[in-house]
Amino acid sequence: MSDLRELYQEMILDHGRAPRNLRAIEDADHTAEGFNPLCGDRVKLYLRVAGGVVVDAGFEGSGCAISTASASMLTEVVVGKRVEEVDELRRRFRGLVTGEVRDASRLEELGKLAVFSGVCAFPNRIKCASLVWHALESALHSEAGAAPAVSTE
Ligand code: ZN
Repeated sequence: MSDLRELYQEMILDHGRAPRNLRAIEDADHTAEGFNPLCGDRVKLYLRVAGGVVVDAGFEGSGCAISTASASMLTEVVVGKRVEEVDELRRRFRGLVTGEVRDASRLEELGKLAVFSGVCAFPNRIKCASLVWHALESALHSEAGAAPAVSTE
């Protein structure tokens, strides 16, 4: 299991150092911002949705490796998924980082997002990993273009 831990850490560091989709999307139709005051992480998420499917995703922001890696991976995994599928993924991710999801088969459903399974051991880091997912919820379920600020609870 420790090899897996190391692999997970590597992936988080990799995405933290070289985030994917780190760009604003000019014609985004869903955006939201999030701020995690505990760590100072800031993220602005951009999505383009067409026919109920996320067709493009990007983000801007600055924060720790975990928040950046989480945003990077989010933008990778949501593209091509229906909004309902993204919502389901979001619920599963919450279960993962809060430690509710532990069994291997359910971790598998999360694919590469399973790298965040170690985060539940560090309560301060859960907000870092979840920040962009809160922004995602806000982006998809509020008026287009309103870009509301996200409370991190
Ligand atoms: Zn952080």
